[in-house]
Amino acid sequence: MAFAIPQTLGKAPSSLGSFKTLWMINCRFPYRLSCRKHIYWTPVCNLITSVKNEKVKLVRALANTSYRRTSKKIVCEGLRLVSDALKRGLKPDFILYSDDVFQSASFRHYFSEQLFATPVAWKTTHDIMASLSDSVTCQGIIAVFEQPCDNMPSQPDLVLVCDRLQDPGNLGSLLRSAAATGVDGVIISPDSTDPYSVKVLRGGMGAHFAIPIKICEDWKWFLQVVQDLGISLYLADSNAEQSHYQLDLREPLAVIVSSEAHGPSTFVKQLDAHRFKIPMRNAMESLNVAVAGSVFLYEVLRQREEKIGIVGFGNFGQFLAKTFVKQGHKVIGTSRSNYEVEAKSLGALYVPTTSDLMEQDPDVVVFCTSITSTRSVVESFPVDTLRGKLVVDVLSVKVYPKKLLLELLPQDADILCTHPMFGPESGRYSWKGLPFVYEQVRISDQVRCETFLGIFSSALCTMIPMSSELHDSYAASSQFITHTTGRMLAKLNLQSTPINTKGYESLLGVVETTCKDSFDLYYGLYKYNPNAKLELEKMEQALQALRKELETREALDAPNKD
Ligand code: NAP
Repeated sequence: MAFAIPQTLGKAPSSLGSFKTLWMINCRFPYRLSCRKHIYWTPVCNLITSVKNEKVKLVRALANTSYRRTSKKIVCEGLRLVSDALKRGLKPDFILYSDDVFQSASFRHYFSEQLFATPVAWKTTHDIMASLSDSVTCQGIIAVFEQPCDNMPSQPDLVLVCDRLQDPGNLGSLLRSAAATGVDGVIISPDSTDPYSVKVLRGGMGAHFAIPIKICEDWKWFLQVVQDLGISLYLADSNAEQSHYQLDLREPLAVIVSSEAHGPSTFVKQLDAHRFKIPMRNAMESLNVAVAGSVFLYEVLRQREEKIGIVGFGNFGQFLAKTFVKQGHKVIGTSRSNYEVEAKSLGALYVPTTSDLMEQDPDVVVFCTSITSTRSVVESFPVDTLRGKLVVDVLSVKVYPKKLLLELLPQDADILCTHPMFGPESGRYSWKGLPFVYEQVRISDQVRCETFLGIFSSALCTMIPMSSELHDSYAASSQFITHTTGRMLAKLNLQSTPINTKGYESLLGVVETTCKDSFDLYYGLYKYNPNAKLELEKMEQALQALRKELETREALDAPNKD
């Protein structure tokens, strides 16, 4: 892979066609960096050439654990880590980079607009960068961030507690496994290695930005934090009677892993924890702590895995299936059309009929059908087979399916009405921060329901419990108005112009995203949200009122002209 760094200095052309553009601040002279079809116009920054520069001194000072703790700042080195932190929304205090960054093999993957589209990137020399770098081959990029937020969720499902882990490599690996298995938070005991040291950050591969890590600086506080979780505790102990395979790990729990060299601390021994062992052969006595912790966490994941049936395997059904499969769940789809090929490519199973689907004995059945067809689909469903199952709908209106499911499903089927307020466009790269609205209409198996909701919370959606009635009143004035505006503007056949304003660009964006959804979906929003008709009337009245305002003003202006 070759990257050209043109040496010629010059002005950016007024039109860059399809090329992505970005400018860095503090520029004296712009120059162009090209990478295949991406061209980055980066002015040369005020070059930092002195080791006495305040930023350089700060990076050096942050190598010290106690300074990191008091300043609440962290140093990330390397394209991958810096890019991960930015992607997860961390705001950099500043980024230092040298020309080395453009030679890295990871350049194309991680050098993205967001990396340098920040007013805090500063260029420095290779020598300064190398002196700050902790790795043998310096990648040419180091950033200082605020320490990520350490707030634990109020009702965690899965927590990792690290008891006096002193090896940075082990802690980094454990954090990585914790993030991958959907742990809600990590608690670090006193006398542990600092999770924000360069080595642990490197080993964590971005885990630090995905899950909250609470560092307890004294034992009293540590015990308080662990006890306040209010969930069952599990402690690895090679002398325990039960192996982790014999435990029911579906309820919320925290697993404690202790130092290999010293075993559980006296404080941890005071906790009322279930002890478990991990089976070992060949007379091996112990596992590496990161391996033991990961093995346990993956057993939790396995026990919490759900078999999810999706009815309506169209655009949105497939979009959801992709994440369900990625998170380790088994997905079986069925639909009116044949989606065997699509299902296979997603790692899901496709079956032709709803009876075939129920023969697979799914734990959860999700209705992803169009709003308009859902009644007929549920009416023709073998609803008796839904007894004891969790039935979920994802329709963009909520009162309608709630009433429908209450009317047509057997009493002993659980009902969860949801609206993921995003789709294949807005949620293409990440679901982070995207709203997921839900109402637990009738739930008897709370653990199963929480596990299903956990798919969305661990994908970092903003979870919003809300009544279906309130959802529909909000959605009529937000979602329906957005779709109506998009479709109305589409009828004007708006074109991009060479002088687009930001506002006009946004309007074009609204047209594009709303018109990508099926007309069926839009019609469903109109027909099955009881508030939509009123909103449409209000929009028409607003247009008329606006027109009248203009005409009145024009009439007033007329004599002045004369
Ligand atoms: P859609 O046009 O609303 O629904 C398409 C799905 O409905 C397909 O699976 C289709 O099956 C099925 N379907 C349509 N008519 C049918 C009929 N007469 N009998 C049986 N099945 C029928 O488009 P969508 O985007 O995939 O949305 C699916 C659901 O998700 C909708 O309820 C929508 O409100 C909700 N939702 C969508 C989004 C989004 O961004 N798209 C976001 C949140 C929620 P075949 O393909 O097999 O014909």
